[in-house]
Amino acid sequence: MADKPHGASMYKYQRCRCPECRRSNAKVKRDFRASQARQVVDGVHPTAPHGTPNGYDVYCCRCGSCRTAKREQLKQWRAVRLSERVEIDGRLAHPRAPHGTRNGYQNFGCRCIACTASNADRYHRRKAARAAEGHADASTKSMP
Ligand SMILES: [Zn+2]
Ligand SMILES: [Zn+2]
Ligand SMILES: [Zn+2]
Repeated sequence: MADKPHGASMYKYQRCRCPECRRSNAKVKRDFRASQARQVVDGVHPTAPHGTPNGYDVYCCRCGSCRTAKREQLKQWRAVRLSERVEIDGRLAHPRAPHGTRNGYQNFGCRCIACTASNADRYHRRKAARAAEGHADASTKSMP
């Protein structure tokens, strides 16, 4: 396939996943999405395939049935990910989760040490931030 230039059509038809094909395919998708988003009126796309995740993702339609379809898709993805977990050292971990992130903990249900730590870390940071805010409020109020 050296004679053909890489790009979005290579990505689509030849299933080439080289960086160049990925990049140009992402651009085509982005452009298409942007052009669809311009047709949305009051959150609803006139010709979107309503009631599908594509209606929500690609056509930027936010009608009730597109939103429901997207929510269902996310729920299913999450259920699939949760079912893919394996037990490692007594902990349920996901083999493909982005470990050490809250995304891994929350969306992949990964409970490995790194993911659990990052979730706990965020929890403590937020708690500390809230406490600091409360403190700042209290001190400004007590100012003369
Ligand atoms: Zn390629
Ligand atoms: Zn819709
Ligand atoms: Zn993990």
